Amino acid sequence: MYLCKLMKEEIQLLVDKGEMLPLMEEFYTIQGEGFHKGTAAYFVRIGGCDVGCHWCDVKESWNANLHPPTEISKIVNNAKKYSNTIVITGGEPLTWDMTALTTQLKAEGLQIHIETSGAYKLTGIWDWICLSPKKMKLPTAEVYDKAQELKMIIYNKDDFRFAEEQAAKVNKDCILYLQPEWSKREKVIPEIVEYVMKNPKWKVSLQTHKYLNIP
Ligand code: SF4
Repeated sequence: MYLCKLMKEEIQLLVDKGEMLPLMEEFYTIQGEGFHKGTAAYFVRIGGCDVGCHWCDVKESWNANLHPPTEISKIVNNAKKYSNTIVITGGEPLTWDMTALTTQLKAEGLQIHIETSGAYKLTGIWDWICLSPKKMKLPTAEVYDKAQELKMIIYNKDDFRFAEEQAAKVNKDCILYLQPEWSKREKVIPEIVEYVMKNPKWKVSLQTHKYLNIP
């Protein structure tokens, strides 16, 4: 009993340092969204998120305790077998310190992308940051400066206003995308199309993996 408690505490310490991470799933697929859509990539989905988007399509990721603490070296060894492009997603991966994971992936010469709401401190070494801000927990100043891509999810009309507010905060080279929330796509796609034609600094992003019926 005591040993078991000790082990749990040790594992929690390693998770807190980012040397183990609550791994929800990992899979080789095609990046469906944004700038890199169509690119084969190995996805690593890390559990844990308290941002609380009501339309979130991975609510199973929220509770980190449901996902086994996994050694970084195991994640890296799996990833490098499949692809040069690794996408770290969640959940909200920045819930955890990403330094150890990204350092090891970089040591293998891999390209590392992150999908993040930016709500927490930006840790890790990234080749591509896809920032998708959420109203409930806004991004940190650092992530606005470093993001290569801003992906705004459109669920209702107010999201266009929020998208503009967020676009005003990112760096000048950041590529701007509007993406329909999947369950509202029939209603919002025509609105997005009209908006992008009127405001061509934006591009349309679709969740093409869902149309392709792949993860
Ligand atoms: S930030 Fe992402 S994982 Fe977290 S609740 Fe929102 S959509 Fe879901």
